[in-house]
Amino acid sequence: MLPFLQYCEKKVKALLLKITGTNHVLGHKLWAKDFPQFSEVIHTKYLIVGGGISGLSACRFFSQNNEKDYLLIEMENHLGGNSSNGQNSISKFPLGAHYLPLPNKENVEIIDFLKECKICLGTEKNGEPVLDEYQMTFPQQERLFYKNSWQNDIVPQRGISATTQQELNRFFKLMDELRIKKDSQGKYWFAIPVHDSSREDEVTKLEKIIFKDWLRENNYHSEELLWLLDYSCRDDFGLGIDYVSAWAGIHYFAGRKNNWSTKYKDQVFTWPEGNARLAKHFSKYTEEKHMPENLVFDVKINDKVEVLSFDNAQKRQKRSLLIKSCLHHHSL
Ligand SMILES: Cc1cc2nc3c(=O)[nH]c(=O)nc-3n(C[C@H](O)[C@H](O)[C@H](O)COP(=O)(O)OP(=O)(O)OC[C@H]3O[C@@H](n4cnc5c(N)ncnc54)[C@H](O)[C@@H]3O)c2cc1C
Repeated sequence: MLPFLQYCEKKVKALLLKITGTNHVLGHKLWAKDFPQFSEVIHTKYLIVGGGISGLSACRFFSQNNEKDYLLIEMENHLGGNSSNGQNSISKFPLGAHYLPLPNKENVEIIDFLKECKICLGTEKNGEPVLDEYQMTFPQQERLFYKNSWQNDIVPQRGISATTQQELNRFFKLMDELRIKKDSQGKYWFAIPVHDSSREDEVTKLEKIIFKDWLRENNYHSEELLWLLDYSCRDDFGLGIDYVSAWAGIHYFAGRKNNWSTKYKDQVFTWPEGNARLAKHFSKYTEEKHMPENLVFDVKINDKVEVLSFDNAQKRQKRSLLIKSCLHHHSL
């Protein structure tokens, strides 16, 4: 029995390492914090920690705004973060993020990036974007198996009671209204990025109530609707309607405005390697600006900022980096 369990343990470990693909050994050093004394000081005006899509976007922003004094520090030996990929003899494949949904027309930065990457090929006279369909995928129609048959879309349609149908209609009508609702300042109640969403009381109070309670208070009880909302929240947030706020739950449905293109709605941009393709598009902004295999383990903010990091590639020499940076309050 014991050898069998040991065999299983090895297999599970191998499988986990394959699935995550992240440098957990280095990451766990953050617990032990047994780092050597620093031996190198680097001065930089802007230090970006983490080479996922956020950090890469920051590099692009600096570069496009004629700011050359920036550095990107990343603990892995590759960039992309959760938008990284693997490859086998057959194909590349995503390790995390698979696709990019169509942005809202207000997301001008993303649209600009999509043009730069030749994913958006231009604009028609009527304002419609011209999108490269080779970089898009079309959602499968029959995708819900419910009551012994396949149904189109993910919203249960067949085999449901009249009451459930009414609840579904009422819920989606409300989402349609909230999708375009703006506050007294002209801000969307629910926007992408979330930072652009309204902060008025009527909206923020939804952050203080659990989605499931909000649904109950608003007379949504149908099993199918609650299943759908729970599934959606778990898909996006990793937690279901018992845990996420009403704000988050509603944002899932009302954040995307479907207002950039009338031709494409449910389609998404995707590639064999998933969003790692997008990460790769940023590489021109990170050349000679990128410090791989460096784990940041402390940030001290006084009159200047000190970021302590551990250089894993040089670990035999037990070398660590201290990056000193002046605080800059102005934004580019
Ligand atoms: C399973 C999964 C699937 C997803 N699918 C999609 C999708 O299909 N489409 C979509 O748009 N979004 C998707 N998302 C969300 C999307 O992946 C993220 O929003 C996005 O990639 C986050 O980018 P980021 O740069 O903020 O963070 P991350 O990608 O997490 O990047 C953070 C980076 O910081 C580095 N780092 C962390 N700590 C340190 C440290 N101490 N020192 C140095 N470096 C450090 C990490 O190694 C990493 O590279 C998905 C998320 C998950 C978890």
